[in-house]
Amino acid sequence: MKSFDNKVAVITGAGSGIGRALALALGEKGCNLALVDVNEQGVKETKRELRGKGLKVTTHVADVSNEKAMKALAAEVAAAQGKINLLFNNAGITYAKSFEGHSLADWKKIIGINIWGVIYGCHFFLPYLREQEGDAHIINLSSMVAFMGPPEQTSYSTTKAAIKGFSESLWAELHPQGVGVTVVHPGAIRTAIMDEALKSAEDQSAFAKTKAMVDKMAMPADKAAKKILKAVRKDKMRVVVGLDAMFFEGAKRAMPEEIHKMFLLMPQ
Ligand code: NAD
Repeated sequence: MKSFDNKVAVITGAGSGIGRALALALGEKGCNLALVDVNEQGVKETKRELRGKGLKVTTHVADVSNEKAMKALAAEVAAAQGKINLLFNNAGITYAKSFEGHSLADWKKIIGINIWGVIYGCHFFLPYLREQEGDAHIINLSSMVAFMGPPEQTSYSTTKAAIKGFSESLWAELHPQGVGVTVVHPGAIRTAIMDEALKSAEDQSAFAKTKAMVDKMAMPADKAAKKILKAVRKDKMRVVVGLDAMFFEGAKRAMPEEIHKMFLLMPQ
């Protein structure tokens, strides 16, 4: 997609972090926005930050893991905005727990949001995107953990590896038909995702230390958003965001098994 001017983008998880940064960056380019989140205050704040730019910005409260809500959302956005060019399946959560520390409810919740949320998004929005063939694009947020699974990330790695495979297959189907697909593999980006994970972390004090360390090195969300939008403009199938994510990918390719031993050196 060469330009975002006068297009319509739907962003899930637009009430915080990367979703909000994408909304602000797209707003700068003249893109109209449908901001989706379970957190109503969050999307209202994002909308407030977009005031005065002459854009059509609509807010929608929906849980991406709820099939009925996602079906209704697609119709609601299409009616409110008139057309849909871009779908950012961005809403996501993570946990900081060992496999044995996860309840089955934790698994169902993260699979619901991180996998079903993306499938529902693509399923219910694709008919509208097809109406804009040649000017339509789906962007799915995976992670660097799709390349290598770290400890205490069984559920998150499962979901993000799924999104990698899903998006690559989807690209092969849709790209020749004029609907672009980009899968995004960010490294650590400074957002609220780890604050949320901290609330249910198995070892809160250890995770708080990890979070403080990661926050220092993490990329600002606005910088990540710019890299994601550049990849969409260039119609890239994939984008790896950050040196840490590039390291994860490169090291996995070079030493597919040995590299995992680095995780054994981390304090348990
Ligand atoms: P964030 O916590 O700052 O924002 C996530 C947003 O998603 C929040 O506004 C939250 O309310 C919303 N959300 C959560 N559950 C939802 C649901 N069921 N329905 C609708 N909205 C829901 O997190 P972020 O870091 O901006 O994460 C955005 C995406 O980027 C996620 O898919 C995440 O996995 C991915 N990602 C983040 C990082 C990172 O380091 N921050 C790294 C790799 C990938």
